[in-house]
Amino acid sequence: MTELLDRIRGALVGLKMPRAMEALDHTVQRFEKGEITAIEAIDALLSEEYATRETRRIDVALRTSKLLPIKTLESFDFSFQPSLDRERIAALAQLDFVRRAEVVHFLGPPGTGKSHLATALGVAAVKSGRQVYRASLAELIDALAKAERQGQLAEKIRFYTRASLLIVDEIGYLPISQGGANLFFQLVNARYEKGAMILTSNRGFAEWGEVFGDPVVATALLDRLLHHAVVVQIEGASYRLRSHADLIPEHVRANAPIAPPPPPKRRGRPPKNGAANS
Ligand code: ADP
Ligand code: MG
Repeated sequence: MTELLDRIRGALVGLKMPRAMEALDHTVQRFEKGEITAIEAIDALLSEEYATRETRRIDVALRTSKLLPIKTLESFDFSFQPSLDRERIAALAQLDFVRRAEVVHFLGPPGTGKSHLATALGVAAVKSGRQVYRASLAELIDALAKAERQGQLAEKIRFYTRASLLIVDEIGYLPISQGGANLFFQLVNARYEKGAMILTSNRGFAEWGEVFGDPVVATALLDRLLHHAVVVQIEGASYRLRSHADLIPEHVRANAPIAPPPPPKRRGRPPKNGAANS
């Protein structure tokens, strides 16, 4: 028996299974006392090791996917957002859209949970073993522009196409330069029908010409991003402002639906490289 246990210890070291090693003595004792069967003992050792590894894998993956702070569907208060169909979101969480390389759009005013839901679906995908990457549109375009300057655009696009789910957050908040729109188009084109995407935006599709500063690129983008697409429109109040509703003017609180384009007033910082968006 001692010899056998030594051999098991040697194998656990060789296989790099420290958690099973820790659990070994206790598990053997339980078996000897007749508390568990041999099969249960094997299960206990392997389950301990597997659970530890999964936790670590998910931890690392959530960090490299840029999905922190973590959001889940369980922590989403659907009663606050009655326009949202809970069943529809639950169906998305089954991740068939990832397997089918489809595009999910979350549209709605600020604070309605678009990023929360996108992140929660990303977290579900990470847990199921998929590679995920999340970035805001501005971050994504900055990274692509930097790669282009360094002559590494193709590598960068390959990096972003490797993820089976790419989440592009915050489309529409900051104006995009024409160069930026072209870079994003190249990425979308590279992923088209190969990998799933989730996009979040506070602007309707009719406004994309304005968002991307170029109606031709916007049309080409939408052509790809609306073919095999699911559009989830959220029409509700901001969760961020829920406890301050009395301080907010009525016209802001009402959260006019997305469809009518807002006056062509630019907010945020001006485009980085010049007048494409004037
Ligand atoms: P959006 O991306 O639409 O602007 P967020 O998803 O970032 O909004 O939501 C803003 C904040 O409010 C986040 O911290 C998010 O977790 C939280 N939040 C939004 N909607 C809900 C909800 N229905 N239930 C719970 N938390 C919510
Ligand atoms: Mg957001």
